[in-house]
Amino acid sequence: MKKVLVTGGAGYIGSHTVVTLMERGYHAIIVDNLDNSNAEVLNRINSIVGTKPDFIEGDVRDADVLDRVFSSYEIDGVIHFAGLKAVGESVEKPMRYYSNNVEGSISLLKAMDRHDCRKLVFSSSSTVYGDPVRVPITEDFPLSATNPYGQSKLMIETILRDLANANSQWQFTLLRYFNPVGAHASGLIGEDPNGIPNNLMPYIAQVAVGRLNKLNVFGDDYPTEDGTGVRDYIHVMDLADAHMQALLHFKPDHGCRAYNIGTGNGYSVLQMLQAFEKASGKDVPYSIEARRSGDIAESYANCELSKQEIDWVARRDLDQIMKDQWNWQSNNPNGYKD
Ligand code: NAD
Ligand code: UDP
Repeated sequence: MKKVLVTGGAGYIGSHTVVTLMERGYHAIIVDNLDNSNAEVLNRINSIVGTKPDFIEGDVRDADVLDRVFSSYEIDGVIHFAGLKAVGESVEKPMRYYSNNVEGSISLLKAMDRHDCRKLVFSSSSTVYGDPVRVPITEDFPLSATNPYGQSKLMIETILRDLANANSQWQFTLLRYFNPVGAHASGLIGEDPNGIPNNLMPYIAQVAVGRLNKLNVFGDDYPTEDGTGVRDYIHVMDLADAHMQALLHFKPDHGCRAYNIGTGNGYSVLQMLQAFEKASGKDVPYSIEARRSGDIAESYANCELSKQEIDWVARRDLDQIMKDQWNWQSNNPNGYKD
């Protein structure tokens, strides 16, 4: 059985990917320091799959932890989710981001090298395109960053590209996620942000269950159809499938390849709100507020390359996203703390 090390596998995207891996017969080994996750997720994965994934509580910056894991299991490949992702916090505490994300990745790559494991799928982000000159975005668009979180993703992408250029044994796939949303259809696992959510979907869902009073819509004067920001929202289980496809498509001359992971469709904030209200039967009050600093008007992907090269397309539509989001939130109004 193929053994896959999943760093950050207790988190939102990681936990859904672990379910998909285990259901397809892979042996998933999670390393996570639980900085932004809850060990309860392991019980939930057990309820879905019938087995608990192997779990090592530890930090990817800890070489001893990684050496122990690579020595105990013959790891065939790594999916690297572990990292911090809050844009605003990254502006206030840049060193926390460079240390967790960049130092963490370097520590992981050194351990992989020591143990002759050189296949890695990396969680990158559409944030590496900065404010794109046009949409849809293709992988060859210029890269830039406007905050330390985005910088950390760009730095890691650069490191991976340089390593692959220097040594053809390294095989890297960079998945540039657009906006991950939704939850596993069982309603047992989902996104459980600490504190007040930064992202649109968990915010809307928490208003619907009464944890928050109303949605603040950040700006209605963008050059979009209804003036609110447009994004490419991708179901987290489609994202999980993309990791599976990435693992299946490593090859000897692989080098370092980047793929957009989105749907190719853009939806506005108000369209998302209406679709959620329809799926949940709940009214979600909102008010129009000032633009959020650093936001862009519009971002959505061209996903032709991932279709051609890793045989992946998003299969779940907006109705499915909203249904699964609501199923998770209504069954777990306080997330894993219930
Ligand atoms: P998440 O916070 O739910 O999961 C990340 C996990 O990594 C958490 O369980 C956390 O405890 C763990 N972690 C953090 N630092 C660690 C460290 N130093 N050592 C070990 N574990 C550590 O976030 P997510 O939404 O699942 O995102 C996963 C990855 O995808 C991240 O790298 C993120 O930057 C990237 N990404 C996320 C989004 C998004 O909107 N969710 C978009 C693009 C890219
Ligand atoms: N947004 C909003 N209110 C919120 C959170 C987000 O209006 O409470 C808007 C935001 O301005 C953007 C879209 O929703 O247009 C998606 O934002 P999110 O933070 O989820 O993702 P990102 O900005 O990273 O694309």
